[in-house]
Amino acid sequence: MPSLIETLRAAVGSTHVLTDASDVAAYCTDWRGRYVGVAMCVVIPASTREVAAVVAACSEAGVAIVPQGGNTGLCGGATPIKGEVVVSLTRLNRILSIDTENNTLTCEAGCTLAAVQDAAETAGRLFPLSLAAEGTATIGGNLATNAGGVQVLRYGNARELTLGIEVVLPDGRVWDGLRGLRKDNTGYDLKHLFIGAEGTLGLITAAVLKLYSRPRQTATGWAAVSSPGDAVALLTRVREKIGGRVSAFELLGRPALDLVLKNIPNSRDPLAMQSPWQVLIELSDTMESDLDAALESALADAFEAGEVSDAVIAQSGPQAQALWALRENISEAQKIEGVSIKHDISLPVSRIAEYIARADATLERDFPSVRIVCFGHLGDGNLHYNLSKPAAQDNADFVAQTEAVNRIAHDLVHELGGSISAEHGLGQLKRAEVLRYKSDVEMDMMRAVKRALDPDGLMNPGKVL
Ligand SMILES: Cc1cc2nc3c(=O)[nH]c(=O)nc-3n(C[C@H](O)[C@H](O)[C@H](O)COP(=O)(O)OP(=O)(O)OC[C@H]3O[C@@H](n4cnc5c(N)ncnc54)[C@H](O)[C@@H]3O)c2cc1C
Repeated sequence: MPSLIETLRAAVGSTHVLTDASDVAAYCTDWRGRYVGVAMCVVIPASTREVAAVVAACSEAGVAIVPQGGNTGLCGGATPIKGEVVVSLTRLNRILSIDTENNTLTCEAGCTLAAVQDAAETAGRLFPLSLAAEGTATIGGNLATNAGGVQVLRYGNARELTLGIEVVLPDGRVWDGLRGLRKDNTGYDLKHLFIGAEGTLGLITAAVLKLYSRPRQTATGWAAVSSPGDAVALLTRVREKIGGRVSAFELLGRPALDLVLKNIPNSRDPLAMQSPWQVLIELSDTMESDLDAALESALADAFEAGEVSDAVIAQSGPQAQALWALRENISEAQKIEGVSIKHDISLPVSRIAEYIARADATLERDFPSVRIVCFGHLGDGNLHYNLSKPAAQDNADFVAQTEAVNRIAHDLVHELGGSISAEHGLGQLKRAEVLRYKSDVEMDMMRAVKRALDPDGLMNPGKVL
């Protein structure tokens, strides 16, 4: 009887089954280096048929599987724990078709997000999902984590951008759900079980994605506001006045901006006056229209109303990119500064100001020298509410406070009707934490779905549930 490794080699070719410690190391460590696990091997199939053969062999042997795309997830979801088979989807990287009349793109799950964006652009269309890891993150990973990014306000999360998927189930059978339909009311919408499931229910091997018309114009502005409440008032004003053309509305607290100015070369504060909070606004339109004038007019009204104290509108592509770089480099700048305790949370937009005021006050009282680095996709109610280590404190001492800090940050999220994971999922990181906040009824339903699709618990064990 051949061993599992021999069967896997027969299924995908021996060069695509990695067993040497030096070859598998990168697949066993997460992007932040926070989780390091052990894998029996890494298998890199090249087609749905090969994925199905791999999964069937593992199921037969009773060995668990960890799906992996670009390994850019931030919660340890793609990292094996104790001897699973890692299945990397990166060789399933073909764009299968583009239908410009139906406005859909069908691709394999291992395509990088950037490759899908490029293919859509070549066809004169837009695939709007966009995030800083897009050169490495894959469509399979994006769907499995229901990724968000900077354009959710206008186009929605990965879930809203997906019409159909193909999945290899935990027993090795293939579900072909690659339908390009915007209307399909024939029972349970099963694709939504796999989107956001972080690989715990099956392996996504392909997807039908929605395409949009490409914007002909964008306007990018930067405004100083004195408080998160004023930022929310400005968001409401801009949406009332400019409606669906608002494609991004980002909030940056002063400490977040200061970290970028300090740690990222060639960064410059766009405004002369130092403000405690700033927002980055982007408008886009598929028709020829004067977006700069629309943005200027909304900002002038906000100035009159006392919501904005200063503002600038980018006059060129490079100027707009420089404003975006200030937002996109915050994570990198924070990493350079040292360890931090991060919270990727969402709240109703109407509770954001209250959340920040109350969380800041409690944390500053209990942890006097901590630096609160708060920024995020305000338009989506999504905050990255992070705490950076005080300069004088030891890394280990600071990290040891995570539990106490989480109680303050996450309990308040729950009290205000929010979620402790807006974008990144649960993975290993928030698996225990979520039990505090979801009801028994909700957890029972999640466990029932898991049991129904993966009765032997072989898909990505130790994650989510
Ligand atoms: C610099 C940086 C910026 C980021 N910005 C954002 C952001 O703005 N918004 C956001 O939402 N995320 C962001 N992320 C997180 C990350 O990029 C996303 O979660 C992304 O969707 C993960 O894709 P991946 O291919 O790297 O997945 P992986 O990290 O490989 O896997 C993530 C999870 O999905 C599962 N999985 C992967 N592929 C499949 C598949 N084919 N079938 C089933 N399950 C699968 C894995 O088992 C794991 O649980 C960022 C990450 C970095 C490093």
